[in-house]
Amino acid sequence: MTKPGIVKKKINIAIDGYSSCGKSTLAKAVAKEFNYIYIDTGAMYRAMTLHALKRGYITPEGLNEEALIKDLDNAYITFQYNPVTYLSETCLNGEVVEKEIRQMDVSKHVSPVSAIKEVRLKLVKLQKRLSENKGVVMDGRDIGTVVMPDADLKIFMVATPEVRIQRRYDELISKGVAVSKDEIKQNITERDHIDSNRVNDPLRQSPDALVLDNSDLSLDEQFEFIIKKAQELIGNGEEISQLQ
Ligand code: C5P
Repeated sequence: MTKPGIVKKKINIAIDGYSSCGKSTLAKAVAKEFNYIYIDTGAMYRAMTLHALKRGYITPEGLNEEALIKDLDNAYITFQYNPVTYLSETCLNGEVVEKEIRQMDVSKHVSPVSAIKEVRLKLVKLQKRLSENKGVVMDGRDIGTVVMPDADLKIFMVATPEVRIQRRYDELISKGVAVSKDEIKQNITERDHIDSNRVNDPLRQSPDALVLDNSDLSLDEQFEFIIKKAQELIGNGEEISQLQ
């Protein structure tokens, strides 16, 4: 039943781009503004990578794809709302793993894990389901092309390598992760290469996406850009004068 008042149309917003372009910071702010659900798909691939590390499918000899594929059903990935921080946290088999999935060990192995067809099939299916009811801001690499090809608003974010490295460095240092800029540079370059060149759902700019180069933009300026576009699509809403 719909109560009287103004009912606003809900839209889906897809934000794609290279590693460390600031997608998640922006996506979170936009979701908060509209009271939408924010879905960090990178966190899901990171949780799957953590699962592979924990189960011993990643060793110095490499990634045992076959063993991981056989064990996919035992990786149960969910999000849980934290009422203290007001943020949603990634869980692997019921355990909050938000901190672990941001460590360099996971960053180093996440792109090869994400390139596995079966891993993508499982996570894309889940992501599609999460976006069914609209009112979702989702960020990743294939959101506008594969997960939400019908998204109402698609943004493709880019920034210079220097800006991206500095941002990632500041973010990790603030989280207490010991890391050097060289390590970050190597990791970002490798991930971009694998993510853009893999066979399954590679990182691509959707032809109908708006490019947002945020190298020289503040978070407020980026935020204004998206909010304005989204508001144009949402409109002023429809007035409901009696119970429906
Ligand atoms: O967004 P974030 O940098 O945390 O993503 C980590 C990794 O997860 C990416 O480098 C990419 O390999 C993978 N990923 C993906 N598809 C997505 C989101 C992330 O393959 N939609």
